[in-house]
Amino acid sequence: MRGDVPVPRDIPSKGPCYGTDKQDCRIEEYYWRPRITGPKHSILVIRCATHKKTFTIYPAGFGPYQRLPMANTAYATSHLENNQGEHPREAFQDTQFQAAVDASEGEAWPREWRDGPRKWWETQRRRIAKMLVLLGLDPEMEETKRIQVTQLLNVEHMLVLEKKRAIEGKPGYRCRGHGVASMLKALMKSGNPVERLLLAGHQVGLWGMPLWWDADWGIIRKIPFRLARQENPV
Ligand SMILES: [Zn+2]
Repeated sequence: MRGDVPVPRDIPSKGPCYGTDKQDCRIEEYYWRPRITGPKHSILVIRCATHKKTFTIYPAGFGPYQRLPMANTAYATSHLENNQGEHPREAFQDTQFQAAVDASEGEAWPREWRDGPRKWWETQRRRIAKMLVLLGLDPEMEETKRIQVTQLLNVEHMLVLEKKRAIEGKPGYRCRGHGVASMLKALMKSGNPVERLLLAGHQVGLWGMPLWWDADWGIIRKIPFRLARQENPV
């Protein structure tokens, strides 16, 4: 561990630059860069001497440039079969979803700016809105985007529409938080959704393309989910 961030099991031997030409990567150095804003921990920066590229390694569960993870590290790195049936509270404490999970249980963050932006009403409201987009539940989002998210998250389009309708015209934080939390529960039933959430976030423009360091194979890969065939909106 370094601070509260686990050091990767191995440093990647290839960068995202691998395959751009016939030369192999030569990962020569890495260092920890302190974050000026966002998480208190440093992030790992690696440089490929061959391709003269520098890239950043985020701990498991983080979207690129995100200050908070999608799921806590223990959950993000655990095996699928161990995750079924877990409650969102445990898996998503101190993550981008916490604002919504708190809201679903009627826990409103303080209206006064007391503990800074981490626990402030406006922050809670903004994060819930962002997670509604990520999960395809935002009533205002384009239907084509919603369908793409639905496919990436591998959930029934009808289920998403049903949850979207439940919050339509109801801007209350508790109702919207419940929409997010109930969708998380549905996602968790079919295994660990973290990779799919990262890819869905990219699809709706919340962050860049997430790459995955696969330590078992020693490669950096794109998350291997493809959009399923297009469904017609109902
Ligand atoms: Zn390289």
